[in-house]
Amino acid sequence: MSDRVSDRVVVALDVGGTGMKCALVRPDGVVVRTERHPTGAARGPAAVVGTILDVAGGLADKARADGLTPIAVGIAVPGVVDEARGVAVWSANVGFRDVPLRDLTVRRLGLPAALGHDVRVGGLAEARLGAGRGTGHVLFVAIGTGIASAHVVDGTAAVGAHGAAGEIGHIMVRPDGPRCGCGRPGCLEAVASAAAIGRRYAELAGGTPDAPVTAAEVAERAAAGEPLASQVWQEAIEALADGLASGQALFDVATIVLGGGLAQAGDRLLAPLRAALHERMTFHREPQLVAAALGDEAGCLGAALLALDAVGVRDHQEKR
Ligand SMILES: [Zn+2]
Repeated sequence: MSDRVSDRVVVALDVGGTGMKCALVRPDGVVVRTERHPTGAARGPAAVVGTILDVAGGLADKARADGLTPIAVGIAVPGVVDEARGVAVWSANVGFRDVPLRDLTVRRLGLPAALGHDVRVGGLAEARLGAGRGTGHVLFVAIGTGIASAHVVDGTAAVGAHGAAGEIGHIMVRPDGPRCGCGRPGCLEAVASAAAIGRRYAELAGGTPDAPVTAAEVAERAAAGEPLASQVWQEAIEALADGLASGQALFDVATIVLGGGLAQAGDRLLAPLRAALHERMTFHREPQLVAAALGDEAGCLGAALLALDAVGVRDHQEKR
């Protein structure tokens, strides 16, 4: 085997509600091929599973045609994921209900396979290859339509006893706040997700539902000095700081990495959030607060890391 070590690759897929990001990745983290495919979730979960297996099989074949040796497959999916059993338990976006995706992949491709949760593998990639690299204890927080996190210690993301670790979006930050999709009032993601920021602005502006203002626009208008946008943005910053302070109290990380759509606001988010988090630190040590570095490739790279971990190959990245 040792003469083939440099030819080894894993097949990685990050399955989202609308598209799949796919790649062949070497053990050193170098991506040698990328592909994107539509998920076609409207066709139903069985068809999506068929596409996942076809795409994974196709990538393995292309690797072999290029003289490479596929050694494992990693797949990231949204929703509730039982990583130990390799089952996509539930997904609102893709419609999965107890799909044994790992075993289906093993059977179809004849390769070891690993299944992971999209945010957790994204955090894994940011912690090992991206903005948290070399810092050991990392909390990755993805802020988009919702808010979710991954706690990564020395390159391993905590999954939880029921596959549901990291739901920082459902920490209650405003008991009298808007009701969350989960049914409780005042969850962090009901107050400070990109979707919530847009909703709040529209509400205060007496908004027209046909012309929604995005969180990015709220950030821009706040930076331009518009009072209403500044108020909404600052409310979101304060709520995020409360959520991150709770995260820091629990996990005492070295680095908090912010990803997801809202992190694209860059310093308009990071600078005031750093200040607000600083105010909340008492005896806790203040973490570095940084923007994610891998963009929308994080999930795919994280899926590759899961695949490498599944076959015990970790001869890459973690060089400090
Ligand atoms: Zn909630």
